[in-house]
Amino acid sequence: MKVAFITLGCRVNSYESEAMAEKFIKSGWEIVDNDEKADAYVINTCTVTNMGDRKSRQMISRARKANKDAVIAAVGCYSQVEPEKVAEIEGVDIVLGTKNKGDIIHYVNKFIEERNQIVNVKDVFTDKKFEDLNIDEYQDKTRAFLKIQDGCNRFCSYCLIPYARGGVCSKNPEKVIGEIKRLAEHGFKEIILSGIHIASYGDDLKGDWNLISIIEKAEQIDGIERIRIGSIEPRFFDEDTISKIKNMKKMCPHFHLSLQSGCTETLERMNRKYTAEEYKEIVYKLRENISDVSITTDVIVGFPGETDEEFEKTYDFLKEIELAKMHVFKYSPREGTKAAAMKNQINGNVKDKRSAELIELDKINEKKFMSKFLDREMDVLFEKKLEENEDLYEGYTPNYIKVVVKSSEDISRKILKVKLTEIQDEHLLGELILYK
Ligand code: SF4
Repeated sequence: MKVAFITLGCRVNSYESEAMAEKFIKSGWEIVDNDEKADAYVINTCTVTNMGDRKSRQMISRARKANKDAVIAAVGCYSQVEPEKVAEIEGVDIVLGTKNKGDIIHYVNKFIEERNQIVNVKDVFTDKKFEDLNIDEYQDKTRAFLKIQDGCNRFCSYCLIPYARGGVCSKNPEKVIGEIKRLAEHGFKEIILSGIHIASYGDDLKGDWNLISIIEKAEQIDGIERIRIGSIEPRFFDEDTISKIKNMKKMCPHFHLSLQSGCTETLERMNRKYTAEEYKEIVYKLRENISDVSITTDVIVGFPGETDEEFEKTYDFLKEIELAKMHVFKYSPREGTKAAAMKNQINGNVKDKRSAELIELDKINEKKFMSKFLDREMDVLFEKKLEENEDLYEGYTPNYIKVVVKSSEDISRKILKVKLTEIQDEHLLGELILYK
């Protein structure tokens, strides 16, 4: 039996798809590309933007067209918040939410036996258990993502995630450590601890567990050479945390601190819990204490009520703090959120213009950041060959700069020293120096 996965949205969804795929493999299924004919298609849906909803629906129809007899399962965030709508899409056989993806094989088998549509979406506010999905071995990957936390209690005014994934729940720390050990045994050198709101890791657990204590444990695991954390809220970095991170040997100096707006008034309407000034202080403290640190971010333009003056504040703020990379999103209202009901929704053309301005600024900042590393020697963890007929390999420095080098030998999965020589588009070119 063959199964194909179509995954939309964030890295947490990617992790969960990998974990579901591993369950299928262990049950004797073969994983095939999603454009191939399969006996089952699992569409791991997203609802962060309207686009996510639309794409989720498109992917369901595409899978049905690929094989009219296949079992089509829609799981994840869009299924969780709109189960009835998803169940009505022509050809959907199984609808699961965000809390029972781990039982996917049970439901696929049940459908094959009974041929009756299954809709099983749990209430995320009453079911507060962390769903244990494990990955022992990623397929063809060098870096392993580990989902250690789910849910969010923050309720930013534009975000549906707390409704799709419920409140904070954390993976049992012993299980996290066990999973990292297994990944190290399978040859993974780098792990990325991820979650929906990982700064809250441990808030729901007994004992003193938190994200820092998990990282400290992970640091002691042989074979793991690099630890990264996924997107994290800026206020995680208080004095104590920065001083602990400063002394860690394996923690990568790359932090994705979601900003969303550089204007405090806009941040207030977004229900973010920091001011632009506080964010700036954190960025400067990280730069003072952690050498070569790279700070990246997300910004939303066109949030309801964002005046020209407010946008200018954001623009000037980002110009001043010169982040290494930013992802710019145009605000899109999500039904059911406070922001969707706010007055002064912003016209699409204004959003386009603001987005283009920030993207331009980002290119300048990114280049400035990369140019600081020219002529430097840095360790690069190589991932894969870039193009089949050329001896080009790509990998990342600890501070997440993409580097491309020439090598006649297969250097994937190795950490090697590279002299960085030239900026090309969004990466650096380099020359291999020696094997580590
Ligand atoms: S912190 Fe805000 S944006 Fe992030 S998941 Fe929670 S509610 Fe959504």
